[in-house]
Amino acid sequence: MMKDVSLDVAALVLLIILVFSCIFRKMTSGVSNRIYLVILLSAIVATVFDIIAVTLDNADSRNDFALYAAHSGYLIAHYLIAPLHLFFVISLTDIWHKLRRNTILQMLIFLPSFVVMIAFILNINNNMLFSVKYGYERETWFPMLYVAAILYVIYDIIYIIRYNKMFDFDDIASITAVLPIYIVAVTVQAFFPNVLVGMFGIAVGLLIISIGVQRPEDYIDSFTQLMKHSAYAHDMKRSYYNGKHVNIIMLNIANFQSIQAMIGFDLAMHILKEVADKIRQINTEWSAGAELYYLDNGRFRLVFDWNEYSKAEDVANVLNRELKNASFNGLDISLEPFIVLARCPEEISEFKMLMSFGADFHKKNYYTGQVIKANEIFNQNQLDIRNNIDTIIEDALANERFQVYYQPIYSLSKDKFVSAEALIRLIDPKHGYISPEALITAAEQNGAIHKIGELVFEKVCQFIASDDFEKLGLEYIEVNLSVAQIMNSDLPDKLFAVMKKYDIAPDRINLEITETAAAYAQRVMTENLEKLTKAGISFSLDDYGTGYSNMKRVIQLPLKIIKLDKSFVDENNNPKMWIFLENTVKMLKDMNMEIVVEGVETREMLNAFSDLKCDFIQGYFFSKPIPETDFVEFISKQNNKAS
Ligand code: C2E
Ligand code: MG
Ligand code: MG
Repeated sequence: MMKDVSLDVAALVLLIILVFSCIFRKMTSGVSNRIYLVILLSAIVATVFDIIAVTLDNADSRNDFALYAAHSGYLIAHYLIAPLHLFFVISLTDIWHKLRRNTILQMLIFLPSFVVMIAFILNINNNMLFSVKYGYERETWFPMLYVAAILYVIYDIIYIIRYNKMFDFDDIASITAVLPIYIVAVTVQAFFPNVLVGMFGIAVGLLIISIGVQRPEDYIDSFTQLMKHSAYAHDMKRSYYNGKHVNIIMLNIANFQSIQAMIGFDLAMHILKEVADKIRQINTEWSAGAELYYLDNGRFRLVFDWNEYSKAEDVANVLNRELKNASFNGLDISLEPFIVLARCPEEISEFKMLMSFGADFHKKNYYTGQVIKANEIFNQNQLDIRNNIDTIIEDALANERFQVYYQPIYSLSKDKFVSAEALIRLIDPKHGYISPEALITAAEQNGAIHKIGELVFEKVCQFIASDDFEKLGLEYIEVNLSVAQIMNSDLPDKLFAVMKKYDIAPDRINLEITETAAAYAQRVMTENLEKLTKAGISFSLDDYGTGYSNMKRVIQLPLKIIKLDKSFVDENNNPKMWIFLENTVKMLKDMNMEIVVEGVETREMLNAFSDLKCDFIQGYFFSKPIPETDFVEFISKQNNKAS
């Protein structure tokens, strides 16, 4: 009976289109993409051999060698799709490193294919699988090919169930949709050898995978052609989940936003593309094999294998040098590459931390122009703190370890201390002093900030309600509010409830908000400020001069006090800065705002700002933040001396 090859031809066309689609959509790098391509190629080889074999069969060819070669080519290539499919599924979860360590698992995976390959070799002499002597015939042991293939399908299913958490829903849907198609196609062909539906079924299955699993739009950034933020998040989450060790170069172009503001979106994107090309080129030149990502806002990531730390170090140094000196045809632009090299999970123990890692680096004085190693900027204790900050906070809340310190604020006109800023302090039994910045940043991320904020506010109210406060002649306490707190619509009611509990008059409280918070023109925040101001609570703008104050926003806010930031104040020796400070102070005074100068450390600074007619001075010159009892002692001594 003649066999019809038209379904095979259709399969061949479909498979070739899929190969081109992979190439055009740039789905050729990364382990799973490469395995997918290998599957496509074996399917093409199998189909071509099938067409040849069937044509020879139909022509009743007696060329035994050609018949044998064509049929074995087809059977081997066809068979290989089953184990390759399993590798593809494994590659989606990236647990090769576990597989490498587990010999039993390796045996289980490789044994069926090993046996099948031996059978193919033996078949040359004993024709146990198939023979071509009287035309192509399946022999006694032929079903063993089905058994081996079915074994791989079972492995697939077990694997997907075992690691279901690590697959996206779309992945699972398309991989599992493929299995019944394969099974039906192969079964039909097993019982009706003249219906050549097998390869066509496989081609359709591969098409479904291509649509469902390979979504370049989810993973490839169209400007840089590097993998996107979502791919980085996906891959890193998987590494952390699997306990896989990697080395990561985090490259942030620190001045990217100002570059974009200066030269516009199109040119900035052009520069990004060139940076991406440079990264790709260095990756190739150094045979580094790093996976490359572009997150957004000038942030790139290069992920290296765990044993490639020294190569990662070399690549980081080359990148640093080349990017600093890069010129962009005619544009007078120099990049500020900010590069951190980290071992994960040793130096950054949690996925969540990795994703937010480095966001605050350029604000601190870490930048030296050199590549920064995560283990150099943080000593082991600081690393431990960063790695365990969530637990440290949880523990501190449970064991009431948080304390509130007070830093005195001096009134120049009244010549005495009239208030203080409440500042949180935490001494952890294991790690010692935890910096408030690290604490607040982490608490904002994990949501603990609301509890911490309430706790600080309650302690402040307790202090104001005490006899000491009244006796010391203090007027109010400044309390820091974080952005997350101001954005919370429950904030006013919570504060009112505590004030009511301790019977605190609203003019005893001044809330500090930062410039960053002020920059959010957000409804909830505006409503909160209105409600609290109406109730008689006043506000300060903290850290004035550090952010990018939108003056219009600042003017619109109901602010009583502006706090000049320390970094700004430190530059008072710079004559131009001084002119700027003089004018700023005058402008703010004309707007009827009061001014606190923060970070005053010397008598010289005190005199200078006193001449400028600022209202209040806060800084180490008078006192560091100190515990409540010390503060009470300090103020009673100082204010009595003054009077
Ligand atoms: P901030 O609100 O600007 O607080 C002033 C910071 O400057 C304090 O650091 C203070 O110790 C420091 N400082 C004051 N005078 C001087 C000086 O003369 N020289 C130097 N070098 N530093 C001075 P601290 O206590 O480490 O707090 C850091 C930041 O953490 C605060 O900056 C504030 O943004 C945040 N923070 C602290 N406590 C709280 C809190 O209870 N809630 C919230 N949301 N944030 C807080
Ligand atoms: Mg403050
Ligand atoms: Mg401040």
